Amino acid sequence: MAIKIDPEKCPQNHVCPLIKTCPMQAISQVDNGLPEIDVEVCVECGICVEKCRMKAVFFEE
Ligand code: SF4
Repeated sequence: MAIKIDPEKCPQNHVCPLIKTCPMQAISQVDNGLPEIDVEVCVECGICVEKCRMKAVFFEE
């Protein structure tokens, strides 16, 4: 499994609040663009999936 961000659901018009929420600091973002998750750092805790208000973050099988 891996965590993915759906570019259709992420409005990409604000600083992603999940950057601060992620306990591993695995999420990065350039300007207000689509955030990226570093799969080498991510522990798949699911906090970002739960906390994203746009429901843009999901587990991919
Ligand atoms: S699943 Fe957890 S570790 Fe991975 S990006 Fe989301 S909050 Fe960070």
